[in-house]
Amino acid sequence: EKRNPGQGEFVQAVREVSADIFPWLAERGEYHDAQIMRRLAEPDRIVSFRVCWQDDEGRVRVERGWRVQNNNAIGPYKGGLRFDESVTESVLKFLAFEQTFKNSLTGLPLGGGKGGSNFNPKDKSDEEIMRFCQSFMTELYRHIGPNMDVPAGDMGVGSREIGYLFGQYKRITGRWEGVMTGKAIEYGGSKMRPEATGYGAVEFACNMLHHRDDTLEGKTVLISGSGNVALHAAAKVIAKGGTVLTLSDSDGFIHDPDGIDADKLDWIRDLKLERRGRIGEYADEYRGASFQECDTPWRVDADIAMPCATQNEIDGDAARALLGNGILAVVEGANMPATAQASRAFREAGILYAPGKAANAGGVAVSGLEMSQNAERISWENDKLDRMLADLMRDIHERCVEHGADGEGGVDYVKGANIAGFRKVADAMLAFGVV
Ligand code: NDP
Repeated sequence: EKRNPGQGEFVQAVREVSADIFPWLAERGEYHDAQIMRRLAEPDRIVSFRVCWQDDEGRVRVERGWRVQNNNAIGPYKGGLRFDESVTESVLKFLAFEQTFKNSLTGLPLGGGKGGSNFNPKDKSDEEIMRFCQSFMTELYRHIGPNMDVPAGDMGVGSREIGYLFGQYKRITGRWEGVMTGKAIEYGGSKMRPEATGYGAVEFACNMLHHRDDTLEGKTVLISGSGNVALHAAAKVIAKGGTVLTLSDSDGFIHDPDGIDADKLDWIRDLKLERRGRIGEYADEYRGASFQECDTPWRVDADIAMPCATQNEIDGDAARALLGNGILAVVEGANMPATAQASRAFREAGILYAPGKAANAGGVAVSGLEMSQNAERISWENDKLDRMLADLMRDIHERCVEHGADGEGGVDYVKGANIAGFRKVADAMLAFGVV
């Protein structure tokens, strides 16, 4: 905390990981002597820069941009860009730190990074978004490259923004190269990338249930958010025979006791992606559904909770409400959606609890596959990628079980993910000596 004053999110993330790693290190002096954990908690570098752009009224606006390159021991820095008012250096440092473990857990050669801006893309015109993205990339381009640092999207950075960012990189450098992932199919994007995080999180849930001889079929599921991760998670839950009861956005949540089926989900997709509307409009369209303003879905009775919106969206009270209703599993589609209190409560209760770094790793895994396809100038089909994603999620689940099993049939997935993610990066860093 003394080293990182005012960086609550970053301190929270490092603390959580350290609590699992330090006891494990006690019998492994070589990692401890090399100060691996301390080195991982100090990003390789942070680039911070001014982003100047002009709004539609011709006014000059000034925002701040960052790229946090946390660790590249096992591969080029890899992690998304987030455009949101809530973005601070602390938020990006926590995300880059978590990303390092997550990327290691995928088994692919990917280091960890994250970036973004406090720019708020909501209510901006297409032209304003384009001018901002071009200005952002005009600085960022000198710090990234296909073998150095490969950004992707995150909150507020979808296919439209990736297009503007990648177009500007290409314009400045004159090179077409796989410097970003999450691109549209027409210019080198991978099939299945948009779906991968949400689908992968549901695959992970199925693996956890399967490990206990259970399935997703017939289970009720609470999902928060209505962005990329939430909508694809919802689609996969429906396809696997589960019932989605809720979705949300920053205005509040909708609850449909009859379940949000595939047709209703199509309507929501059109609302959010085409009309850029608000989730509350669902309750006007579908009888029986309700909209709770300024609230989260965690008090609704269900079997499984999938937080897919943002960090710290489940606090201690919400965790108690979920546990009080007998929740069976919590699967994190978002990054660090549970506060430290909530996370502790889930672990102590011994429910199936999948941390984001394991459950939402499907997105970055398919990004890794996008990099491979770009390097080879090829494009794989949906069914092949779908199988590869399912295999990757199964392998991540196995790595968590290997390091998190308690010997009595239970699995601490948080501990398992932290140790498995740490180990590969730490071994690479040991091999490099003191650098
Ligand atoms: P999107 O921007 O597509 O969607 C975010 C959703 O969360 C929106 O519905 C948004 O509502 C809602 N939201 C944002 N802030 C809040 C808040 N404070 N309270 C309630 N709802 C909120 O982002 P993604 O779906 O891509 O990302 C969601 C999470 O998943 C993030 O934590 C991200 O880091 C993580 N993630 C994403 C990956 C990906 O592949 N996209 C990969 C791995 C992790 P509104 O429209 O009102 O802002």
